[in-house]
Amino acid sequence: MFDELTGNSRAKAVLKRMLVADRLPGSMLFAGEEGIGKKLFALEIARALNCRTPKNQEGCGVCSSCVRIAKLNYPQRDDADEWTQIIWTDHADVGLVVAPKRVLRVEQMRQIEKEANFRPFEGKARVFLIDEADKLNDASANALLKVLEEPPRTSHLILITARPATLLPTILSRCQMIRFSPLTPNEIETHLIKNKLVDSKTARLRARAAGGSIGRALSGDLVTFTSQRKAMLKVLNALMLSEDRAQLLRSAEELNEAQYKDEFEERLDVLETLIRDAWMLSLGVETSQLVNEELSAELKGISQKIDPGRAANWILQIEDMREQLIVNINRKVTTDALFLVMAGDVPATKRPKIR
Ligand SMILES: [Zn+2]
Repeated sequence: MFDELTGNSRAKAVLKRMLVADRLPGSMLFAGEEGIGKKLFALEIARALNCRTPKNQEGCGVCSSCVRIAKLNYPQRDDADEWTQIIWTDHADVGLVVAPKRVLRVEQMRQIEKEANFRPFEGKARVFLIDEADKLNDASANALLKVLEEPPRTSHLILITARPATLLPTILSRCQMIRFSPLTPNEIETHLIKNKLVDSKTARLRARAAGGSIGRALSGDLVTFTSQRKAMLKVLNALMLSEDRAQLLRSAEELNEAQYKDEFEERLDVLETLIRDAWMLSLGVETSQLVNEELSAELKGISQKIDPGRAANWILQIEDMREQLIVNINRKVTTDALFLVMAGDVPATKRPKIR
């Protein structure tokens, strides 16, 4: 049942409507960040289509079909060959493909084409999930197009991706896109506690460190998060006391140290949440609404001095830097420049183009 899934009430409503009207598109694209439940929603569609005792066109969750569809048999070994096969659930009509390494392969799409042409073996519909659809290359995308062009009525394809913009227009145009949004800290906290994934105290902190993703709430390392937050709070403090250029440049340097290389973007995320929180506090928002609620005392101090226009600009500048990083410019130089622009040393419009 969709109501058992966490968050994304809009996507739920859209999918339920389609199921009730018996107008589920043959090809769909589930788009939205990692770790917010897209795959679970796709499996829920497969359940709705194959349930033996459906309720309002939704899967009951307890019949043998529903139970088996929930079980994906991922290969136990790293052996690339096994990962290039369709990964079946315990139900003979529902399976998934995922990129074995960096790309989804042509042969995986050919297998889907072949399987999609069979009538359902035991249920009413065959459902294939194509996970990480952004890893299709030109060749595998073209192989997939063949299935998307004339899918048999009893087969459904659900592409899943966090980066829909990277898909070929020919693929995008043939799939009905359903957008998924990040979950709120409260939705994540409730999910963690309801499913007994962590204890209630940790749930609160994890939910707030998760940036909208249950995946990240579970995999995230709290020690790392806490130290990232401490470092970024230093940056924010240095920005507020606008004379502390030395601290800013030290922080920029630290952000670029080799040991934090993989954490670079996470740290920028954390910095953004701190800026937003201080900004929200300055607008009179309750501390319970903050991402970094535990730091509310320190953030309150900052919020008294923060200028909303400046805070908005900082966030734009960080976003701007993320864009620049995609084209692979020098990270160190850009971080220095970012912090100095944020501190107001260099007007953003006049700063030199760094390539
Ligand atoms: Zn069922």
